[in-house]
Amino acid sequence: MNTGEIFDQVVDRVRTLDPANSRAWFDLLRLVDFNGGTLVVGCPDEATALFCEDHCLDAFTQAAQGITGHLVTVRFVVTQSHRPEVDAAPAQGVRIHPDYTFESFVVGPCNRLAHASCIAVSHAPGVTYNPLFLYGNVGLGKTHLLHAVCHEVRATQPQARIDFLNCEQFVNSFINAIEHGTLPEFQGRLRSLDVLVIDDVQFLREREQSQEEFFHTFNALYNNHRQIILTADSAPSDLGRVEERLISRFKWGLVARLDAPGHETRMAIVQKKARLRGLQIGEDVADLIAHHVRTNIRELEGALTAIYALAKTLGEPITPDLARQALGDQLPSMQKPITITDIINAVTAYFDVRPADLQSKKRSQNIARPRQICMYLARSLTRHSLEEIGGHLGGRDHSTVLHACQKIAQLQQDDSSTRAQLEELTRRIETG
Ligand code: ADP
Ligand code: MG
Repeated sequence: MNTGEIFDQVVDRVRTLDPANSRAWFDLLRLVDFNGGTLVVGCPDEATALFCEDHCLDAFTQAAQGITGHLVTVRFVVTQSHRPEVDAAPAQGVRIHPDYTFESFVVGPCNRLAHASCIAVSHAPGVTYNPLFLYGNVGLGKTHLLHAVCHEVRATQPQARIDFLNCEQFVNSFINAIEHGTLPEFQGRLRSLDVLVIDDVQFLREREQSQEEFFHTFNALYNNHRQIILTADSAPSDLGRVEERLISRFKWGLVARLDAPGHETRMAIVQKKARLRGLQIGEDVADLIAHHVRTNIRELEGALTAIYALAKTLGEPITPDLARQALGDQLPSMQKPITITDIINAVTAYFDVRPADLQSKKRSQNIARPRQICMYLARSLTRHSLEEIGGHLGGRDHSTVLHACQKIAQLQQDDSSTRAQLEELTRRIETG
């Protein structure tokens, strides 16, 4: 075997050894050198090299040793031809993840504004929305979008100084700087950035000294028209123990909320994630996964990994049967899909109305609203068509159901009490 063949086998073995970290772009990895017991692997860019180093080193080492029968040390380098002209300032914060790009982000009604504003900001930092504040529940893509902004800024404006910290890193570096008497350096570094990205600013809650420091950093950047991008688990006004002057600044630019994706968006996300891993899955499998992983997109990845691993082990294509087999343990709800009856039961109990009322012609608000919510939930939690949903709710036609879904979707955007009702109802329906 020549070294090229060995390398191909190593990559293939890695895919079996570590399905969770296998990616389609492994095809872009190149053999740079292999002698003296060191395997040097060339990566197309820094993000992929760092990803491999962080996540794939063990699998590569093990694979290389298994195939050659020798002790092997593996190193990942950025292949020279791919290096950007200008050396970007070394980032201090989060390592940019190669998977989290705009390309791999699925846009749907749940995240359209957040996505569009991230694109706008990465093309003209400091010019359009400043600060940009994204918020939403866990697992809805906030961090993904921040990484995507970093990729985009680095690709289109390599000379721009950008740093991405999670808020905890900010707080720790700040405390560290005080302890070591290096506060001026800490401040100087942050304040000279063109783009400062801070994830999960709810971490500032109750940390008064850090809030004070952050306030001054914010002002320095803002006054110099430098871009600030922030995320949190709640809207600025709901952050709780965060100083009012910071909260008001968080609202100066654009505030965009991310909502939970509906069934179609979830299906598209499953398909994107599968492609990223070099997996071929059909609509039926995507539908199956999207149907059973609803609340947190992070769980979709676990589901895909399990399916990938089983397909790889059995050497079989990914069919709905194989997917079901792979997900059997993880997804107990698999046996029990949600029915419209489950939804009607939950909604009638919650609003204290009778199922017969929902099916009646009554149009009073206290009946019409629960009826519309039923329709909306049936649309997002089951695979029934508009006609079928209308049929269960007193024989209403599809345009009535569509109108109800749009109405509730709008209220979900604009009205926090409807949002809370929907979340609570979804939780009750899903937990049975
Ligand atoms: P958050 O920071 O809001 O908690 P993350 O950005 O960490 O959420 O997202 C969790 C996972 O879900 C990530 O793997 C991310 O890629 C994925 N994800 C969330 N929304 C989308 C989307 N619209 N398109 C593609 N992947 C998504
Ligand atoms: Mg996050």
